[in-house]
Amino acid sequence: MHKSCVLITGGAGYIGSHANAALARAGFDTVVYDNLSYGHRDLAQWGTFAQGDILDAASLDRIFEQRRIDAVMHFAAYTYVGESVADPAKYYTNNVAGALNLLDAMRRHGVENIIFSSTCAVYGLPPGDPDDLLTEEHPKQPINPYGRTKLIIEQAMEDFGRAYGLRSVILRYFNAAGADPQSRVGERHIPETHLIPLVLCAASDPTRTLKVFGDDYDTPDGSCVRDYIHVADLADAHVLALKHLMDGGSSEAFNLGNGLGYSVFDVLDCAERVSKRPVNRIIQERRPGDSPYLVGSAQRIRSKLGWRPRLADLDQIIATAWAWHSKDGFCKGASF
Ligand code: UDP
Repeated sequence: MHKSCVLITGGAGYIGSHANAALARAGFDTVVYDNLSYGHRDLAQWGTFAQGDILDAASLDRIFEQRRIDAVMHFAAYTYVGESVADPAKYYTNNVAGALNLLDAMRRHGVENIIFSSTCAVYGLPPGDPDDLLTEEHPKQPINPYGRTKLIIEQAMEDFGRAYGLRSVILRYFNAAGADPQSRVGERHIPETHLIPLVLCAASDPTRTLKVFGDDYDTPDGSCVRDYIHVADLADAHVLALKHLMDGGSSEAFNLGNGLGYSVFDVLDCAERVSKRPVNRIIQERRPGDSPYLVGSAQRIRSKLGWRPRLADLDQIIATAWAWHSKDGFCKGASF
């Protein structure tokens, strides 16, 4: 029997590699397409691997010619809010021009299904009442170039849907975190700027100090509040979204979060609890582009696709990250 084949751009990265594992478990064939600028070849453990760049149309054409691709999962994007403020050209080139290149290659080759990695950063500022969780209807007014590049592609996909029949599921991630429970794949970016890996590095090394970017926000303890979601739960949602499209379901946009807000100080406390070590911290200026409060409702994907997170508790999420970093070394890529 023909197995459906999914092209995973960025499949050697943190989230893409978890999606690849989940797809393999669910019986799909995969082709990982990654330029390895951030991804790691050894993370592309399932399916076929092809090194290439989404900006390279000829290389994309070759992939679509060589393999019968049934659907695309598009992860290949830059994701640092702070860097997007300092170097927007890098973000518009890869996240917008590269993604359009991919959409156009799909159009040329008659591939109609795409799962798109988007972000809660498309919403920008939170609701006036912090008890209100962000829903998919919240106004989309990103406050940094990263969020804008993702919103542009969301809108392009709608237009491609109307004009060319593209069918898409947009998944707006809140803060992906954790490692797979077998500790094969964890979170490592080079340079590392994400909170949880840096906190764990500081927990493992008393000479390191975690910089808290602002304690004067209008939030309960003054630091930014985020909604952390385990990367394996995120990967499961991709498989559900894919099955939805392959079964003829309509284009959709879904939030993916746990609806639980944790401040930077909550994350520090949790990391100390899990690691049983103190974490040095110092208060710094706010980081440009940061939203004070991003906590989402995933009610829509729960009711429409039956998504259920398995590791929603922050202690559990950080425990998987701690186990993986303990095995693989804590501070590789960390830049304090
Ligand atoms: N953060 C921090 N110190 C760090 C890294 C991050 O205080 O060294 C804060 C950051 O300002 C944000 C939150 O932690 O409020 C989550 O940041 P991260 O970069 O992990 O994810 P983002 O929400 O920007 O996608």
